[in-house]
Amino acid sequence: MKRSLLAATLLLAACGGSADHAPPPRPPNVLLITIDTLRADRLNAESMPNVMAFAAKATRFTNARAVVPLTEPSHTTILTGALPARTGVHVNGVVPASPEKTIAGVLHDSGYRTGAFVGAYVLDRRFGLSIGFDTYDDRVTRDPSGSPRLEAERRGDHVVDAALAWLPQDNGRPFFAWIHLYDPHAPYEPPPEYLGRARGRPYDGEVLFADAQVGRVLDWLTTSGQDRRTIVAITGDHGEGLGDHGEETHGMLAYDSTLRVPLVIRTPNRDPATIEAPVSLVDLAGTLLDLAGIAVPSSMHHTPVLSGSRDVYAETQYPRAAGWHALTALVDQRWKLIVSSETELYDLQNDPGESHNLAGDRTSIASSMRARAAELAKATNAAESKTSQEIRERLRSLGYVASPAAAGDADDAPNPADQIYAWNTFERELSKLTSGDAARALPGLGKLARSSPDAAVFQSTYARALKDTGRVRDALDVYRRAVARWPQDATLYHDLAVAAAAAGRPQEAARAEQAALAIDPSYASAANGLGLVEASNGHADEAARAFERAVRGDPTNAVYWTNLGNARRDAGNSPGAEEAYRTALEHDPRSADAANGMGVLLVQRNRSADAIAWFERALAGDDMFADAHLNLGIAYQESGQREKAAEQYRRVLALAPPGSKPWSAATSLLANVSR
Ligand SMILES: [Zn+2]
Repeated sequence: MKRSLLAATLLLAACGGSADHAPPPRPPNVLLITIDTLRADRLNAESMPNVMAFAAKATRFTNARAVVPLTEPSHTTILTGALPARTGVHVNGVVPASPEKTIAGVLHDSGYRTGAFVGAYVLDRRFGLSIGFDTYDDRVTRDPSGSPRLEAERRGDHVVDAALAWLPQDNGRPFFAWIHLYDPHAPYEPPPEYLGRARGRPYDGEVLFADAQVGRVLDWLTTSGQDRRTIVAITGDHGEGLGDHGEETHGMLAYDSTLRVPLVIRTPNRDPATIEAPVSLVDLAGTLLDLAGIAVPSSMHHTPVLSGSRDVYAETQYPRAAGWHALTALVDQRWKLIVSSETELYDLQNDPGESHNLAGDRTSIASSMRARAAELAKATNAAESKTSQEIRERLRSLGYVASPAAAGDADDAPNPADQIYAWNTFERELSKLTSGDAARALPGLGKLARSSPDAAVFQSTYARALKDTGRVRDALDVYRRAVARWPQDATLYHDLAVAAAAAGRPQEAARAEQAALAIDPSYASAANGLGLVEASNGHADEAARAFERAVRGDPTNAVYWTNLGNARRDAGNSPGAEEAYRTALEHDPRSADAANGMGVLLVQRNRSADAIAWFERALAGDDMFADAHLNLGIAYQESGQREKAAEQYRRVLALAPPGSKPWSAATSLLANVSR
């Protein structure tokens, strides 16, 4: 049997450990902590005092690398022990068609209780990593508009609070816990105390804060005595550029500033060690199972192509969004290869900063490594391409030109390393746009869109800025050209639909949402968008079906559940509506829309007195909600409380624009109640 390098080296390193300890009475607990966006060089006593103190008693890997410098694909590989070629998850936001078994699933089947506590929406359960977990705590606050941003985050102290509430619930079974701390990811906004301790460096302040949260978990392990029976792994999902090679953040390049991460593994009763050989996080899940004495499934540990090789593979396909070449990388004991439309080869022994490209001098090393990297990059998951024919038929029936997508890269697509400054400009303009300043972002984004016609993400972001500055027609034109140019990009169709709806073109909006759903059937935002169009056309049944699809795709989205409740209510399905509103309130107890919906259902059932509390709850969530004031007034009036009713109607007149529906209703009701 082939054993992964990581497991092999770890076990070798452990040979010197104490040999004569009694076998544990039950399988050991396994605790995995991933800290997002954590550079390898931050594992030092100043930046991470808690993890450093822990590492002194553990096995520390000084040469560990992530497989993808992006959160979702990296975690997918960490938890499944499989490369992206197998999982199909190469970039963020992907819902895998047939998710691979994770370490949680294996341990769950072996009798473990399993819990995950994640700090960012990009790891929401809908992206396939929740399978095998009894508890998957992904309570990350959503955008009130219901269109979730992948970057939405929950602070590490709240994540650890949730984990520390779950960990002690010992029921005689060992636990597997995964804790994900997103804090060091941009934007860097550490609590002031940590910013001060990091001497004003915001990224380092976030790292210190994350380290403090890890410290709380490690303290619990010690005080509870569980440290004697728990295998602990602490790592990062990728690093951060911080200006190295011109890269500010991560994902676009494949240099070691974003690929190398800390890795520390502690197994009870093993002596501390340091491993300097290159290792990959793809081998982490299998290694942890090995250490726990549990059989590793065949889907885990990628089989080295050349037996005995010590190849560490990495990749990023993110540059394709900008029309640039994807990158694959390979690291062995001495060399690192990066392949795009160009070949880069670095001698890591003598040039760890990857600044002297030796590909032209060391051609045989480069070509041998190229062949090995290409083998590891090859898709092994047939599901990825099998449906494209059906999709093209469906798109054609909706009236879109559906040429086959140009899979992969054009030979002359630029090396992203040469374009990184354009990318930095883009990220700066994008952050203006997402912080609500579309007018200031528009000129820069327009310039980028004109200079890079091959960059889908530049076109769509420019269009979004046009829409946000009120130029909806212009936005629509850009989106129409974009879907003609990239007919397989579901996101572009959805964005087109949102712009079409804003431009008062519901037919076009519905057609575009259907196209998005043809490409990605689990695309919840598109299903929700389709439901909104159907609802505005008065098609309550069709709307309810679309919203049902949206909540299947994104089951914890309170806005989608509320929309479903409204559509079912309009369709006359009162019990179904109540169920949907109650589910919405479970996921977002402050949802004003859902509470208002519950109240309306009670009024319709002639239970106005009971409805009052629901409308009050809606107004506690949003006091400017004119409809809820109107409904509260009606509920008071029907319960015989005329003074209170009049007061609510007057609030509506102050809040709602004159001539609007609630304003007109309040006007006539007020006249009526004052009579
Ligand atoms: Zn990440």
